[in-house]
Amino acid sequence: MNILVINCGSSSLKFQLIDAETEKLIAKGLCERIGIEGSQLVYQPEGKDKITTVTPMEDHTTAVKLVLNSLTDSVNGVVKDLSEIAAVGHRIVHGGEKFAKSTLITDEVVKAITDCNELAPLHNPANLIGIAACKELMPNTPMAAVFDTAFHQTMPKEAYLYGIPYEYYEKYKVRRYGFHGTSHSYVSNRAAEVLGKKYEDLKIIVCHLGNGASVSAVKNGKCIDTSMGLTPLEGLIMGTRSGDIDPAIIEFIAHKEGKSIDDIMSILNKKSGVLGLSSNLSSDFRDLQDAYESGKEEGIRTIETFAYRVTKYIGAYTAAMNGVDAICFTAGLGENSAFVREMICSRLGYLGITLDKEQNSKRGEELVISTPDSTTKVLVIPTNEELAIARETKALLK
Ligand code: ADP
Repeated sequence: MNILVINCGSSSLKFQLIDAETEKLIAKGLCERIGIEGSQLVYQPEGKDKITTVTPMEDHTTAVKLVLNSLTDSVNGVVKDLSEIAAVGHRIVHGGEKFAKSTLITDEVVKAITDCNELAPLHNPANLIGIAACKELMPNTPMAAVFDTAFHQTMPKEAYLYGIPYEYYEKYKVRRYGFHGTSHSYVSNRAAEVLGKKYEDLKIIVCHLGNGASVSAVKNGKCIDTSMGLTPLEGLIMGTRSGDIDPAIIEFIAHKEGKSIDDIMSILNKKSGVLGLSSNLSSDFRDLQDAYESGKEEGIRTIETFAYRVTKYIGAYTAAMNGVDAICFTAGLGENSAFVREMICSRLGYLGITLDKEQNSKRGEELVISTPDSTTKVLVIPTNEELAIARETKALLK
Protein backbone atom coordinates (compact mmCIF):
# COMPACT_ATOMS: atom_id res chain seq x y z
CA MET A 1 0.00 0.00 0.00
CA ASN A 2 1.74 3.17 -1.24
CA ILE A 3 1.00 6.38 0.60
CA LEU A 4 1.94 9.81 -0.68
CA VAL A 5 2.85 12.14 2.18
CA ILE A 6 2.51 15.84 1.44
CA ASN A 7 3.88 18.72 3.51
CA CYS A 8 2.70 21.89 1.83
CA GLY A 9 4.09 25.33 2.67
CA SER A 10 3.16 28.70 1.21
CA SER A 11 5.69 28.43 -1.62
CA SER A 12 7.02 24.90 -1.20
CA LEU A 13 5.80 21.34 -1.23
CA LYS A 14 7.73 18.41 0.22
CA PHE A 15 6.63 14.89 -0.60
CA GLN A 16 7.51 11.27 0.06
CA LEU A 17 6.01 8.13 -1.40
CA ILE A 18 6.17 5.39 1.23
CA ASP A 19 5.25 1.72 1.06
CA ALA A 20 3.15 1.60 4.21
CA GLU A 21 3.43 -2.20 4.51
CA THR A 22 7.24 -2.43 4.46
CA GLU A 23 7.64 1.20 5.69
CA LYS A 24 10.25 1.71 2.97
CA LEU A 25 10.73 5.02 1.22
CA ILE A 26 10.03 4.74 -2.55
CA ALA A 27 10.72 8.30 -3.70
CA LYS A 28 10.91 11.78 -2.27
CA GLY A 29 11.28 15.34 -3.38
CA LEU A 30 10.57 19.00 -3.06
CA CYS A 31 8.93 21.73 -5.14
CA GLU A 32 10.40 25.13 -4.36
CA ARG A 33 9.42 28.70 -5.24
CA ILE A 34 5.85 27.80 -6.21
CA GLY A 35 4.20 30.91 -7.66
CA ILE A 36 7.56 32.71 -7.74
CA GLU A 37 10.03 33.05 -10.59
CA GLY A 38 12.66 30.30 -10.72
CA SER A 39 10.52 27.43 -9.40
CA GLN A 40 12.00 23.96 -9.46
CA LEU A 41 11.21 20.36 -8.68
CA VAL A 42 13.79 18.09 -7.07
CA TYR A 43 12.76 14.44 -7.40
CA GLN A 44 14.66 11.45 -6.09
CA PRO A 45 13.62 7.84 -6.50
CA GLU A 46 15.09 5.88 -3.56
CA GLY A 47 18.63 4.68 -4.26
CA LYS A 48 18.98 6.86 -7.37
CA ASP A 49 20.35 10.31 -8.10
CA LYS A 50 18.34 13.49 -7.62
CA ILE A 51 16.69 14.90 -10.73
CA THR A 52 16.24 18.68 -10.71
CA THR A 53 13.78 20.24 -13.15
CA VAL A 54 13.58 24.01 -13.38
CA THR A 55 10.08 24.76 -14.65
CA PRO A 56 7.39 27.36 -13.98
CA MET A 57 4.89 26.40 -11.25
CA GLU A 58 2.20 29.01 -11.16
CA ASP A 59 0.35 27.36 -8.28
CA HIS A 60 0.25 24.31 -6.00
CA THR A 61 -1.99 22.35 -8.40
CA THR A 62 0.74 22.64 -11.04
CA ALA A 63 3.29 21.51 -8.46
CA VAL A 64 1.23 18.45 -7.45
CA LYS A 65 0.71 17.65 -11.15
CA LEU A 66 4.49 17.69 -11.70
CA VAL A 67 5.03 15.48 -8.64
CA LEU A 68 2.48 12.94 -9.90
CA ASN A 69 4.02 13.04 -13.39
CA SER A 70 7.45 12.31 -11.91
CA LEU A 71 6.15 9.42 -9.80
CA THR A 72 4.45 7.84 -12.85
CA ASP A 73 7.13 8.75 -15.44
CA SER A 74 7.97 5.87 -17.79
CA VAL A 75 11.74 6.27 -17.25
CA ASN A 76 12.30 7.58 -13.70
CA GLY A 77 8.87 6.89 -12.21
CA VAL A 78 8.28 4.45 -9.36
CA VAL A 79 4.63 3.47 -9.98
CA LYS A 80 2.76 2.54 -13.20
CA ASP A 81 -0.15 4.87 -12.65
CA LEU A 82 -1.99 6.80 -9.94
CA SER A 83 -4.09 3.78 -8.97
CA GLU A 84 -0.93 2.51 -7.23
CA ILE A 85 -1.17 5.39 -4.74
CA ALA A 86 -3.65 4.17 -2.14
CA ALA A 87 -3.95 7.40 -0.17
CA VAL A 88 -2.48 10.82 0.52
CA GLY A 89 -1.46 11.89 4.03
CA HIS A 90 -1.29 15.65 4.58
CA ARG A 91 0.70 17.34 7.33
CA ILE A 92 -1.56 20.00 8.85
CA VAL A 93 0.00 22.42 11.29
CA HIS A 94 -2.95 23.53 13.42
CA GLY A 95 -5.97 21.46 14.38
CA GLY A 96 -7.02 23.70 17.28
CA GLU A 97 -9.03 21.95 20.01
CA LYS A 98 -11.13 20.24 17.38
CA PHE A 99 -8.61 17.57 16.36
CA ALA A 100 -7.01 15.38 18.99
CA LYS A 101 -6.36 12.71 16.36
CA SER A 102 -5.65 12.31 12.67
CA THR A 103 -8.73 12.07 10.49
CA LEU A 104 -9.84 11.21 6.97
CA ILE A 105 -10.49 14.38 5.00
CA THR A 106 -14.09 15.26 4.17
CA ASP A 107 -15.64 18.62 3.23
CA GLU A 108 -16.53 19.02 6.90
CA VAL A 109 -12.93 18.43 7.96
CA VAL A 110 -11.69 20.99 5.40
CA LYS A 111 -14.12 23.50 6.92
CA ALA A 112 -12.91 22.73 10.46
CA ILE A 113 -9.26 23.13 9.39
CA THR A 114 -10.19 26.44 7.73
CA ASP A 115 -11.67 27.55 11.07
CA CYS A 116 -8.18 27.09 12.59
CA ASN A 117 -6.54 29.34 9.98
CA GLU A 118 -6.34 32.37 12.23
CA LEU A 119 -4.37 30.34 14.78
CA ALA A 120 -1.72 29.50 12.14
CA PRO A 121 -2.08 32.08 9.38
CA LEU A 122 1.24 31.22 7.72
CA HIS A 123 0.74 27.47 7.68
CA ASN A 124 -2.86 26.26 7.60
CA PRO A 125 -3.93 28.10 4.42
CA ALA A 126 -0.94 26.56 2.62
CA ASN A 127 -1.82 23.09 3.97
CA LEU A 128 -5.38 23.56 2.68
CA ILE A 129 -4.11 24.54 -0.77
CA GLY A 130 -2.22 21.22 -0.84
CA ILE A 131 -5.41 19.33 0.02
CA ALA A 132 -7.36 21.16 -2.72
CA ALA A 133 -4.66 20.50 -5.32
CA CYS A 134 -4.57 16.76 -4.56
CA LYS A 135 -8.36 16.56 -4.54
CA GLU A 136 -8.51 18.14 -7.97
CA LEU A 137 -5.98 15.74 -9.47
CA MET A 138 -6.86 12.54 -7.55
CA PRO A 139 -10.56 12.99 -6.70
CA ASN A 140 -11.12 9.36 -5.75
CA THR A 141 -8.02 8.81 -3.61
CA PRO A 142 -8.69 8.94 0.15
CA MET A 143 -6.79 11.63 2.03
CA ALA A 144 -5.89 11.99 5.69
CA ALA A 145 -5.05 15.06 7.78
CA VAL A 146 -2.32 14.55 10.39
CA PHE A 147 -2.01 17.48 12.77
CA ASP A 148 1.10 18.92 14.43
CA THR A 149 -1.03 19.90 17.41
CA ALA A 150 -2.99 16.64 17.91
CA PHE A 151 -0.50 14.76 20.11
CA HIS A 152 -0.49 17.64 22.61
CA GLN A 153 -4.28 17.70 23.05
CA THR A 154 -3.93 15.39 26.07
CA MET A 155 -2.32 18.23 28.08
CA PRO A 156 -4.27 19.05 31.24
CA LYS A 157 -5.80 22.49 31.69
CA GLU A 158 -3.10 23.53 34.17
CA ALA A 159 -0.52 23.05 31.42
CA TYR A 160 -2.37 24.68 28.55
CA LEU A 161 -3.90 27.74 30.23
CA TYR A 162 -2.07 31.07 30.35
CA GLY A 163 -2.32 33.47 33.29
CA ILE A 164 -4.43 35.97 31.36
CA PRO A 165 -8.18 36.76 31.56
CA TYR A 166 -10.02 33.48 31.10
CA GLU A 167 -12.45 35.13 28.69
CA TYR A 168 -9.69 35.15 26.03
CA TYR A 169 -9.62 31.39 26.21
CA GLU A 170 -13.42 31.21 26.11
CA LYS A 171 -13.83 33.73 23.30
CA TYR A 172 -10.75 33.13 21.15
CA LYS A 173 -9.30 29.81 22.35
CA VAL A 174 -6.06 31.50 23.43
CA ARG A 175 -4.15 28.64 25.08
CA ARG A 176 -1.07 26.46 24.63
CA TYR A 177 -1.41 24.07 21.71
CA GLY A 178 2.16 22.95 21.00
CA PHE A 179 3.63 21.85 17.67
CA HIS A 180 5.96 19.16 16.22
CA GLY A 181 3.46 16.69 17.76
CA THR A 182 3.99 14.05 15.08
CA SER A 183 7.71 14.09 15.87
CA HIS A 184 7.24 14.05 19.67
CA SER A 185 4.86 11.10 19.34
CA TYR A 186 7.08 9.15 16.94
CA VAL A 187 10.26 9.72 18.97
CA SER A 188 8.75 8.92 22.38
CA ASN A 189 7.21 5.70 21.01
CA ARG A 190 10.51 4.65 19.45
CA ALA A 191 12.35 5.42 22.70
CA ALA A 192 10.13 2.95 24.56
CA GLU A 193 10.78 0.32 21.87
CA VAL A 194 14.54 0.91 21.92
CA LEU A 195 14.55 0.59 25.74
CA GLY A 196 12.37 -2.52 25.54
CA LYS A 197 9.82 -0.99 27.93
CA LYS A 198 6.09 -0.35 27.73
CA TYR A 199 5.29 3.15 26.46
CA GLU A 200 2.55 3.47 29.08
CA ASP A 201 5.04 2.84 31.90
CA LEU A 202 7.54 5.58 31.04
CA LYS A 203 8.17 9.25 31.72
CA ILE A 204 9.90 10.65 28.65
CA ILE A 205 11.20 14.11 27.72
CA VAL A 206 11.64 14.71 23.99
CA CYS A 207 13.93 17.55 22.85
CA HIS A 208 13.13 18.27 19.18
CA LEU A 209 16.03 20.57 18.34
CA GLY A 210 15.95 21.79 14.75
CA ASN A 211 15.60 25.19 13.20
CA GLY A 212 12.29 25.21 15.06
CA ALA A 213 12.73 23.62 18.49
CA SER A 214 10.44 22.32 21.20
CA VAL A 215 10.46 20.08 24.26
CA SER A 216 7.64 17.85 25.44
CA ALA A 217 6.86 15.83 28.54
CA VAL A 218 5.26 12.46 27.78
CA LYS A 219 3.95 10.66 30.86
CA ASN A 220 2.55 7.15 30.58
CA GLY A 221 2.07 7.51 26.82
CA LYS A 222 0.38 10.92 26.94
CA CYS A 223 1.75 14.39 26.36
CA ILE A 224 1.27 16.43 29.52
CA ASP A 225 3.20 19.58 28.58
CA THR A 226 5.15 21.13 25.73
CA SER A 227 7.17 24.28 25.23
CA MET A 228 5.54 25.82 22.16
CA GLY A 229 2.33 27.69 22.83
CA LEU A 230 -0.51 29.35 20.96
CA THR A 231 2.04 29.70 18.18
CA PRO A 232 5.48 28.15 17.54
CA LEU A 233 7.16 31.28 18.95
CA GLU A 234 7.16 30.22 22.61
CA GLY A 235 9.65 28.03 24.45
CA LEU A 236 13.22 27.29 23.48
CA ILE A 237 15.54 29.73 21.73
CA MET A 238 15.34 28.66 18.08
CA GLY A 239 17.12 29.39 14.79
CA THR A 240 15.49 32.80 14.34
CA ARG A 241 12.62 32.72 16.90
CA SER A 242 13.06 34.19 20.37
CA GLY A 243 11.26 31.56 22.42
CA ASP A 244 10.17 32.71 25.92
CA ILE A 245 10.57 36.40 26.66
CA ASP A 246 9.03 38.85 29.08
CA PRO A 247 5.99 40.10 27.11
CA ALA A 248 6.78 43.65 28.31
CA ILE A 249 9.85 43.61 26.05
CA ILE A 250 7.53 44.06 23.06
CA GLU A 251 6.25 47.43 24.27
CA PHE A 252 9.69 48.49 25.54
CA ILE A 253 11.45 47.92 22.20
CA ALA A 254 8.51 49.34 20.24
CA HIS A 255 8.88 52.63 22.17
CA LYS A 256 12.65 52.73 22.03
CA GLU A 257 12.90 51.99 18.32
CA GLY A 258 9.63 53.57 17.13
CA LYS A 259 8.34 50.26 15.78
CA SER A 260 4.86 48.77 15.43
CA ILE A 261 3.67 45.51 17.00
CA ASP A 262 3.87 43.90 13.55
CA ASP A 263 7.52 45.01 13.24
CA ILE A 264 8.39 43.58 16.65
CA MET A 265 6.60 40.30 15.94
CA SER A 266 8.56 39.98 12.73
CA ILE A 267 11.81 40.59 14.67
CA LEU A 268 10.82 37.98 17.28
CA ASN A 269 10.06 35.43 14.56
CA LYS A 270 12.73 36.11 11.97
CA LYS A 271 15.61 38.04 13.50
CA SER A 272 15.86 36.66 17.02
CA GLY A 273 16.81 33.23 18.35
CA VAL A 274 20.42 32.17 17.91
CA LEU A 275 20.67 34.41 14.84
CA GLY A 276 19.88 37.55 16.82
CA LEU A 277 21.72 36.44 19.94
CA SER A 278 24.90 35.85 17.92
CA SER A 279 24.68 39.40 16.44
CA ASN A 280 23.62 37.86 13.10
CA LEU A 281 26.56 35.48 12.92
CA SER A 282 24.30 32.61 11.86
CA SER A 283 21.06 30.75 12.57
CA ASP A 284 22.86 27.50 11.79
CA PHE A 285 24.44 25.68 14.72
CA ARG A 286 27.27 24.39 12.57
CA ASP A 287 28.53 27.97 12.15
CA LEU A 288 27.91 28.76 15.80
CA GLN A 289 29.80 25.69 16.93
CA ASP A 290 32.77 26.72 14.75
CA ALA A 291 32.62 30.16 16.36
CA TYR A 292 32.44 28.61 19.84
CA GLU A 293 35.42 26.40 19.16
CA SER A 294 37.50 29.28 17.85
CA GLY A 295 36.72 31.19 21.04
CA LYS A 296 34.41 33.84 19.54
CA GLU A 297 32.21 35.47 22.19
CA GLU A 298 29.18 35.50 19.82
CA GLY A 299 29.35 31.72 19.50
CA ILE A 300 30.04 31.08 23.18
CA ARG A 301 27.21 33.19 24.61
CA THR A 302 24.73 31.92 22.02
CA ILE A 303 25.32 28.20 22.46
CA GLU A 304 25.55 28.48 26.24
CA THR A 305 22.29 30.44 26.47
CA PHE A 306 20.57 27.98 24.11
CA ALA A 307 21.78 24.95 26.10
CA TYR A 308 20.87 26.56 29.41
CA ARG A 309 17.26 27.07 28.23
CA VAL A 310 17.00 23.42 27.13
CA THR A 311 18.35 22.30 30.52
CA LYS A 312 15.81 24.48 32.29
CA TYR A 313 12.92 22.89 30.38
CA ILE A 314 14.24 19.41 31.15
CA GLY A 315 14.24 20.34 34.85
CA ALA A 316 10.74 21.80 34.63
CA TYR A 317 9.33 18.74 32.87
CA THR A 318 11.07 16.38 35.29
CA ALA A 319 9.19 18.24 38.03
CA ALA A 320 5.94 18.20 36.02
CA MET A 321 6.13 14.39 35.70
CA ASN A 322 7.61 13.85 39.19
CA GLY A 323 10.58 12.11 37.59
CA VAL A 324 11.97 11.12 34.21
CA ASP A 325 13.05 7.77 32.78
CA ALA A 326 14.39 8.85 29.41
CA ILE A 327 15.47 12.02 27.62
CA CYS A 328 15.48 11.93 23.80
CA PHE A 329 17.25 14.18 21.31
CA THR A 330 15.94 14.52 17.77
CA ALA A 331 15.79 16.77 14.64
CA GLY A 332 18.68 18.46 12.79
CA LEU A 333 20.64 19.67 15.80
CA GLY A 334 19.51 17.01 18.28
CA GLU A 335 20.47 14.20 15.90
CA ASN A 336 23.72 15.63 14.60
CA SER A 337 25.42 17.70 17.25
CA ALA A 338 27.31 15.55 19.77
CA PHE A 339 28.72 18.83 21.05
CA VAL A 340 25.37 20.38 22.02
CA ARG A 341 24.09 17.08 23.46
CA GLU A 342 27.18 16.86 25.64
CA MET A 343 26.80 20.44 26.80
CA ILE A 344 23.18 19.82 27.81
CA CYS A 345 23.86 16.44 29.46
CA SER A 346 26.80 17.83 31.42
CA ARG A 347 24.21 19.85 33.38
CA LEU A 348 22.05 16.80 34.15
CA GLY A 349 24.25 14.98 36.64
CA TYR A 350 21.50 15.40 39.27
CA LEU A 351 19.34 13.00 37.21
CA GLY A 352 22.01 10.30 37.48
CA ILE A 353 23.10 10.81 33.89
CA THR A 354 26.62 10.04 32.68
CA LEU A 355 27.24 10.43 28.97
CA ASP A 356 28.85 7.58 27.03
CA LYS A 357 31.17 9.71 24.87
CA GLU A 358 31.82 7.00 22.31
CA GLN A 359 28.11 6.36 21.76
CA ASN A 360 27.50 10.11 21.66
CA SER A 361 30.03 10.53 18.85
CA LYS A 362 28.03 8.26 16.47
CA ARG A 363 25.57 9.65 13.94
CA GLY A 364 22.53 8.78 11.90
CA GLU A 365 21.17 5.91 14.00
CA GLU A 366 19.05 5.24 17.06
CA LEU A 367 21.37 5.29 20.06
CA VAL A 368 21.43 5.12 23.83
CA ILE A 369 24.12 7.69 24.68
CA SER A 370 24.05 7.37 28.49
CA THR A 371 26.22 4.81 30.25
CA PRO A 372 24.51 1.55 31.34
CA ASP A 373 24.60 2.64 35.00
CA SER A 374 22.87 5.98 34.33
CA THR A 375 19.54 6.03 36.17
CA THR A 376 17.92 8.25 33.53
CA LYS A 377 18.58 7.07 29.97
CA VAL A 378 19.52 9.49 27.20
CA LEU A 379 18.75 8.55 23.60
CA VAL A 380 19.19 9.91 20.11
CA ILE A 381 16.20 9.00 17.95
CA PRO A 382 16.21 10.32 14.36
CA THR A 383 12.71 11.66 13.78
CA ASN A 384 10.64 10.55 10.81
CA GLU A 385 7.51 12.64 10.56
CA GLU A 386 6.71 11.40 7.05
CA LEU A 387 6.71 7.77 8.16
CA ALA A 388 4.53 8.69 11.13
CA ILE A 389 2.07 10.42 8.77
CA ALA A 390 2.05 7.37 6.47
CA ARG A 391 1.34 5.10 9.47
CA GLU A 392 -1.52 7.30 10.65
CA THR A 393 -2.97 7.40 7.13
CA LYS A 394 -2.73 3.63 6.77
CA ALA A 395 -4.44 3.13 10.13
CA LEU A 396 -7.31 5.39 9.08
CA LEU A 397 -7.88 3.43 5.88
CA LYS A 398 -8.39 0.18 7.81
P1 ADP B 1 13.69 22.34 10.51
O1 ADP B 1 13.10 22.88 11.77
O2 ADP B 1 13.89 23.39 9.46
O3 ADP B 1 13.04 21.06 10.01
P2 ADP B 1 16.00 20.64 10.97
O4 ADP B 1 15.43 19.67 11.92
O5 ADP B 1 16.32 20.18 9.60
O6 ADP B 1 15.18 21.98 10.92
O7 ADP B 1 17.34 21.23 11.64
C1 ADP B 1 18.12 22.14 10.96
C2 ADP B 1 19.19 22.66 11.88
O8 ADP B 1 19.95 21.57 12.42
C3 ADP B 1 20.24 23.50 11.15
O9 ADP B 1 19.86 24.85 11.10
C4 ADP B 1 21.46 23.33 12.02
O10 ADP B 1 21.46 24.33 12.99
C5 ADP B 1 21.26 22.00 12.70
N1 ADP B 1 22.23 20.99 12.23
C6 ADP B 1 22.12 20.16 11.19
N2 ADP B 1 23.22 19.39 11.07
C7 ADP B 1 24.06 19.74 12.06
C8 ADP B 1 25.37 19.33 12.50
N3 ADP B 1 26.03 18.38 11.87
N4 ADP B 1 25.88 19.94 13.58
C9 ADP B 1 25.21 20.91 14.22
N5 ADP B 1 24.00 21.33 13.86
C10 ADP B 1 23.42 20.78 12.82
